[in-house]
Amino acid sequence: MIGDRIKQARQAAGLSLRALAEQAGVSAMAISKYENNKSTPSSKVLLALSRVLGVRVEYFFRQAKVALEEVEYRKYTHLPKRVLAQIKGDVIEQVERFLELEDYLPTCPIEIFRPPVDLPQHINNYAEIEEVACKVREAWQLGLNPIPGLTDTLEERGILVFQSEAIHGDRFDGLAATVDGIPVVVVGAGWPGDRQRFTLAHELGHLMLKGRLNTALGEEQAANRFAGAFLAPESEVRKELGERRTRLEVRELCVLKKAYGLSMGGWQHRAKDLGILSEAAYRSMVRYFRMRGWHKHEPCDDYPREQPLLFTQLVYRALAEDLIGESKAAELLRMPQADFHAQRNMDRAEPATVDQ
Ligand SMILES: [Zn+2]
Repeated sequence: MIGDRIKQARQAAGLSLRALAEQAGVSAMAISKYENNKSTPSSKVLLALSRVLGVRVEYFFRQAKVALEEVEYRKYTHLPKRVLAQIKGDVIEQVERFLELEDYLPTCPIEIFRPPVDLPQHINNYAEIEEVACKVREAWQLGLNPIPGLTDTLEERGILVFQSEAIHGDRFDGLAATVDGIPVVVVGAGWPGDRQRFTLAHELGHLMLKGRLNTALGEEQAANRFAGAFLAPESEVRKELGERRTRLEVRELCVLKKAYGLSMGGWQHRAKDLGILSEAAYRSMVRYFRMRGWHKHEPCDDYPREQPLLFTQLVYRALAEDLIGESKAAELLRMPQADFHAQRNMDRAEPATVDQ
């Protein structure tokens, strides 16, 4: 129904009834009636709504078919309802475009996510998670080197990754859900790359460890251990840091962060988890970082943000195969058609030198 679509778009835009009403030039009462399917907006009003909400008019007529399942609401109780609704709305809108694109393609481009078959059935302590992370790397043929694009790595294995502008602030940890059985992970679009990567690896940890953990182990702590072990495997950490250290240099941590996309704080944690730093040495480093405010903003450059590529690639593939036209491609990528056309033809690229 059109009312549900208006509500979804309003929530995704993070607007109250009143704010939308003001910006679209209608009453809040009218908006409420539209949303409850008690009256139908005229085409003029729909146009105004679409402009304010940043969606095309077609959006309101599309059948809603996506529901986010298994969202851990418990984790988000501290968030204002409106913010959670905005994040969910934004994600649902992105998932819908993904599924719409999928409908145009002859075969499903998304792999079915499956944990590797040889993972241990029972994990009795946190140290055993190191092996799980190694087994996943092995099964996915990632070797031991730093993983350049984690988003890409996950999407190739059937986990959809989305970024949301609606996620910001320190208090929000990213969101994991399933859509039609497909695992979906959402991270903040504005977060530094290392935070995005840790969150992605953490959620991957939940998926891999599900049903295997001894009940004495904390799920969050286990997922964090997995994330660290997946981003920087034990053997590599020992190569980089040595077997036993009394402290780590700040510059040393900067270099490692740059190489592995794991935060400086993450490296300190790895060193403690693997017994390279003693508890006391670790705590003293953490204290030092806190004192200087580095636990919030680390003192070297941010790691570059993750780049989701799969969706854009599939749009171009569908276009190349004449499965969709340019206008649909632009709509799927949420771009004005003229901008899409220019991008498609590389109009803004440097002109190539043809003759000498
Ligand atoms: Zn978690």
